[in-house]
Amino acid sequence: MAQIIDGKRISQEIKDELREKVASLKAEGKEAALAVIQVGCDPASSVYVNNKKKACAYIGIESLSYELPEETTEAELLALIDKLNNDNAVNGILVQLPVPAHINEDKIIQAISPEKDVDGFHPENVGKLVIGEEGFVSCTPAGIIQLLKRSDIEISGKNCVVIGRSNIVGKPMALLMLRENATVTIAHSKTQNLKELCKNADILIVAIGKPQYITAEYVKEGAVVIDVGIHRDAANKLCGDVKYDEVFPVASAITPVPGGVGPMTIAMLMNNCVASMSR
Ligand code: NAD
Repeated sequence: MAQIIDGKRISQEIKDELREKVASLKAEGKEAALAVIQVGCDPASSVYVNNKKKACAYIGIESLSYELPEETTEAELLALIDKLNNDNAVNGILVQLPVPAHINEDKIIQAISPEKDVDGFHPENVGKLVIGEEGFVSCTPAGIIQLLKRSDIEISGKNCVVIGRSNIVGKPMALLMLRENATVTIAHSKTQNLKELCKNADILIVAIGKPQYITAEYVKEGAVVIDVGIHRDAANKLCGDVKYDEVFPVASAITPVPGGVGPMTIAMLMNNCVASMSR
């Protein structure tokens, strides 16, 4: 029987710790504000943005909301980021992605001051992660490290396979596992023999973006399986990249969808905001 890694409980635990930390920082006269920018009104983005604002309110951080119309130009968005970069009252800036197609996403990411880049997407913060310096780390992979550690899962010396090489999940995930002394393999769309590769993994982290792609055939008996995917199945129920019912009896520990990796992303965003508040 696999241990179910409870992201809901662990994320709540982290938010409660942060809430206490914010209260004591406030007692020292330190304040925090997160600027949350959304361009256009994509319904999924609006849900994410609202959840982030709610989390801010819970832990005691002020959120400053900028809801810009779809037709906002790149220059206007860059001007707002510049203003917030120079505003001492703002310690975190978040632009909800994706931005509309007429805006260059890379340009936006690079415009945010690395000291306020609570998403951890700026090349300077990514570079710090590569060379092992302290900086903001992308929230979903950072949350997965917390899930493993707080579930007492040993990482050091383990074979870890990360499926996916995106800039926000796969690559930073692999680097964080390396930092924790795992032996790391990154698999991607051009990888051959994916099944054999995955069968070697003690820890399998799946960020492939394909509903229920990973079946029991990919999983070694007793492996730890972390499912990053979020999708809706034919019955409109949430599901992940892993075929949960099939993999559950094979794994020693597994994250459910929902209630696994998902809630950790916002908890780690709050963690980054508090880190920037204490600096
Ligand atoms: P992405 O589409 O950018 O990346 C998918 C990766 O999978 C790519 O690097 C690709 O090379 C690899 N891939 C595709 N097909 C493959 C195959 N057949 N074999 C091996 N590798 C293959 O996606 P992403 O942004 O990294 O997100 C991955 C999943 O995680 C998505 O389902 C996304 O919705 C979800 N996600 C969840 C959270 C969260 O908070 N839970 C956060 C970010 C992303």
